[in-house]
Amino acid sequence: MADPVKNPGALFDLTGRVALVTGASSGLGERFAQVLAAAGAKVVIGARRVERLESLAASIKDAGGEALAVKLDVTDKSDITAAFDAAETAFGCVDILLNNAGVGPQHKVLEQTEAEWRFIMDTNLDAVWFVGQEAARRMVKHGADGSIINIASVLSFRNVRTLSAYATAKAAVVQLTKSMALELADQGVRVNAIAPGYILTEINQAYFSTPRGEETIKRIPMQRIGQPSDLDGVLLLLSSSASSFMTGETVTVDGGHVLPIVF
Ligand code: NAD
Repeated sequence: MADPVKNPGALFDLTGRVALVTGASSGLGERFAQVLAAAGAKVVIGARRVERLESLAASIKDAGGEALAVKLDVTDKSDITAAFDAAETAFGCVDILLNNAGVGPQHKVLEQTEAEWRFIMDTNLDAVWFVGQEAARRMVKHGADGSIINIASVLSFRNVRTLSAYATAKAAVVQLTKSMALELADQGVRVNAIAPGYILTEINQAYFSTPRGEETIKRIPMQRIGQPSDLDGVLLLLSSSASSFMTGETVTVDGGHVLPIVF
């Protein structure tokens, strides 16, 4: 690698790396795939809506990058294996994983059904472990310099009425990140997480256009909602050798949302 004193940008260069992004058909996942490709990684984009992935893959290729769209329901173990197999055949071992897929249906504790609790846990927690385990096994087998990045949330640390299952799963993702990091640290695999604050995407667009949503934005210390591009820097940091001595860390990017304010 070039000396960062002469070329600091080289720290974030992902040329020769292979990244897999789950839930890449919209929102943060779509942006993550575009940025990783722009930094030089070959990207494997996975989601259930393959037609949306095909147009993302085409736009990445148009911009000079390399991309492969794969059908990937993260709650389906055969899809997970098939996605990693397809990635290896096309590009080689995945050495960057973005565990991004997530769902956020809202119900109060007294009204939430067992089926909805299971749906949220299956997607937001169990799948993070299953996809992470598959990635880690392959990274270790191939002796890859691996980076697994899990998407947590400010709700890993805070609570909102109607999001008990979501917040519980996201809190567990922070602990899972540390546990996996500890076990994989001596095998060349780093595991970190990003905890975004409110970032405008399909998951929350409807809420933030309501008066209550607008009130919520006013309570963010920076007085604005985040955009997917606000995560570009931390994404490149955790994916690249710029963070080569970081593992088990969850980086919060939230405009000051979780700052403990004393009135
Ligand atoms: P989004 O709804 O646009 O994206 C979520 C993606 O996950 C979608 O593409 C969806 O199709 C995919 N997905 C859901 N279930 C899946 C499954 N079983 N298999 C494969 N893909 C599946 O929302 P987003 O804001 O881009 O969310 C991305 C991640 O960021 C999620 O984990 C979310 O919880 C987290 N997050 C978002 C915010 C925010 O404010 N936007 C804040 C904190 C955390």
